[in-house]
Amino acid sequence: MLAEANVSEKLIDGAQLAARVHVEVAEAVKALAARGVEPGLSVVLVGDDPASAVYVGAKERTSIQLGMRGDTIRRPATITQDELLAIVDGLNDDPAVHGILVQMPLPKHIDEKAIVRRIRPDKDVDGFHPVNVGKLLIGEKDGFAPCTPAGVLYMLQASSVQTSGANCVIVGRSNIVGKPMASLMIQPGVDATVTICHSRTRDLGEETRRADILIVAAGRPQMVTADMVKPGAVVIDVGMNRIPDATKKSGTRLVGDVAFGDVLEVASRITPVPGGVGKMTIAMLMANTVRAAAQLSQ
Ligand code: NAP
Repeated sequence: MLAEANVSEKLIDGAQLAARVHVEVAEAVKALAARGVEPGLSVVLVGDDPASAVYVGAKERTSIQLGMRGDTIRRPATITQDELLAIVDGLNDDPAVHGILVQMPLPKHIDEKAIVRRIRPDKDVDGFHPVNVGKLLIGEKDGFAPCTPAGVLYMLQASSVQTSGANCVIVGRSNIVGKPMASLMIQPGVDATVTICHSRTRDLGEETRRADILIVAAGRPQMVTADMVKPGAVVIDVGMNRIPDATKKSGTRLVGDVAFGDVLEVASRITPVPGGVGKMTIAMLMANTVRAAAQLSQ
C-alpha cells in the first residue's frame, strides 16, 4: 500500500485541470464580450433518459457559469426525424448560436448519423461531423476534436507527460473515444507512437505492457490489472461503469476500466474514477464553444 502523499503525487486530478480550463474559457469569453460577442451553446435533448438529462443540465449550467449563453431545447421521444432536422436547421441559421450539440443516444426511429451530418461543421462543438473527423485526422486546427479525447490530451500535456516518441496504447476503437484519441496522439507536436487495441486484439496484455502511456476506453469494469501495466507507465482511465455495491445507498458505485488500487502501485501517474477524465469532457466542450464563437465572429 502506498502512503497517502505518494498517492496524491501520482494522481492526475481531473477536477483541478477542468477548473484550469474553465478559467481559460472565462477569459476568452471576456475578450469576446469586449467585441460584443456572447458565445452561445444550444443543446438538444430528445426523450427523458435520466443520465442524458443530468449531462445536459451540467452543460447548460457550466456555459452560464462561464459567462456564455446556454440553453436546452427539450423534445419528447416521439419527435420525427424531419422535426429534429428542422430544429438543427434553425440553430445552424441562428447567429446567436455558436455551438450545437444533439445529446446522444437518440430514439431508435431517428438516424443519428443524419442528424450529426446536418449540424454545420463550424458549430459542431462535439466534433462528430465527418468534416471535423477529417480535419482532426489531417491536422487542420480550425476543426473540433471530440471533447473526451481532447480532455485526455489536455490532461497529459498539463501534467507534463512526455508524449513525443512515447509508446501510447489505446484500448478501444470507438468513434467517440478510441479513434479520435489515436488521431490526436499521432499529430505532429504530440508525436506518440500509437497502437489501438479492441476486442479482437490477440493478446491484450502483451500490447498494454509496452505502453508508456496507456489509455483505456473499453467500457469493461476494472479490466486492466496491474500485471498488464509496465512499471512507471502513465495510465488514463476513460471508463465509467456502474457496478453493484451493497454499501452504497444507490446500491451501485462508479468504477473505471482500470483496477485502480492495484494499478496505482505500478503506474507513475494515473487518473481516478470518478474525478478524472469525466471532469474534463464538459470543460473541453466549453473550450470548443468559445473557439467556435471566436472563429464565427472573425
Ligand atoms: P464503446 O463504443 O462500447 O467501445 C468500446 C471499445 O472497447 C470497443 O472498440 C471494443 O472493441 C473495445 N473493447 C471492449 N472490450 C474489450 C476487451 N475485452 N479487450 C479489448 N478491447 C475491448 O465505448 P465508448 O463509447 O468508447 O466508451 C468506453 C468507456 O468510456 C465507457 O465506459 C464509457 O462510459 C466511457 N466514456 C467516458 C466518457 C467520459 O466523459 N469520461 C466519455 C465517453 C465514454 P470492439 O470495437 O472490437 O467491440
